[in-house]
Amino acid sequence: MVKFDLLITGGHVIDPATGVDKHADVAVRAGRIASIDENIPADSASTVIDAHDQLVTPGLIDLHTHVYWGATFWGVRADPIASRSGVTTFVDAGSAGAYTLSGFREFIIKPADVRIYALLNISVLGLVAHVHELEQIDHCDTAMFLKVAHLYREIIAGVKVRMERRTVGTNGLEPLRRARLVAEECGIPVMVHIAESPPSLPEVLGLMKPGDILTHCFTGQNMKIVDEKGKLLDAAKRAWDSGVVMDIGHGRGSFSYETAEALAGAGLWPDVISTDLHQFSISGPMFDLPTCLSKLLNLGMPLRQVIRSVTQRPAEVLGLQHEIGSLAPGRRADITLLRLEEGRFTFHDNFGIRREGRQMLRSTLTIVDGRPMPTLAADPLPPWIELTPLQVRLIQEGYAPKFSVSPDVQRALIDRG
Ligand SMILES: [Zn+2]
Repeated sequence: MVKFDLLITGGHVIDPATGVDKHADVAVRAGRIASIDENIPADSASTVIDAHDQLVTPGLIDLHTHVYWGATFWGVRADPIASRSGVTTFVDAGSAGAYTLSGFREFIIKPADVRIYALLNISVLGLVAHVHELEQIDHCDTAMFLKVAHLYREIIAGVKVRMERRTVGTNGLEPLRRARLVAEECGIPVMVHIAESPPSLPEVLGLMKPGDILTHCFTGQNMKIVDEKGKLLDAAKRAWDSGVVMDIGHGRGSFSYETAEALAGAGLWPDVISTDLHQFSISGPMFDLPTCLSKLLNLGMPLRQVIRSVTQRPAEVLGLQHEIGSLAPGRRADITLLRLEEGRFTFHDNFGIRREGRQMLRSTLTIVDGRPMPTLAADPLPPWIELTPLQVRLIQEGYAPKFSVSPDVQRALIDRG
């Protein structure tokens, strides 16, 4: 008897939230997880997907992305990237401000096949341009933030503020103080971006609360969380111990092997692995979420913890752990199939440092609400994006995962090379 819409058979299911880590079949009905069991009969489902030799995990949640495509400097389109990378939920980190959030809901969230939430920028401008959104303090309009946040509460996951020299200008810590104020009022966390001081990292951490997110936590820039000898700073340890969430946000300039290896040497792994996916970072060496996961895996982070950092943990950070981030029956049927390949692979950080590894995670199928996504090609780059010499070299040398860089860009570079 046909009881299920979809059945995924024979895969290695890893669901850190429930502790499931075994070969099992996953059945879906009406967009929800219906059952996880051994040997569910194939004729009980209208569609069957064979997942032998693959990992079956909850749909991956990318906590730091920029998907306000077509209206901001950084934004990429979510669906094509989701279809190739296993991401089923994108959290957009501050692309929309109060003036542009309604457009984000109408033109991006509503038409998308994937789930999208917003960290609303404390600047009413959002990230329409490259930098400078916090330089005029009047743009950090708390009253306007609250009005808009109350209108669109269902899509807002938190507040975003970029604390670094190039964005705050002479305003120092004031944008963060205001972000904390509205976060308190709304009962949501603040995601704080760090890069180049001023302000200093201890000053920034001093204003953060448990549940807030420090993104770019493995940066190699001068707000890094380790000292010159690679030891975790006291201020960072206090914040981490108190419950501040450490999030990778790889991006174009925020993943350093020097920092990552110092922390790995001390057995310290990030709470959340995210991409900081945007028009600069998709052409490498970030490329996509499975590539980021592979980097941590090859540094020694246990596979189950890697999966936890993109499923259970970000779901908890968002307060959505009863809906997504797990394959427990009743949860939304967001499911990712991954292949864990063994071989010799080369990875790069944002400073051109390369490391060899023996394992690579690749996404093979993205399922949202029980519906497998067709694979969609990458978009061409917008006119204002120029690839860096490192990106050109990595693409020419064949390090870009299949499909992650637009076919136009790949062809142009290969012709030139
Ligand atoms: Zn970002």
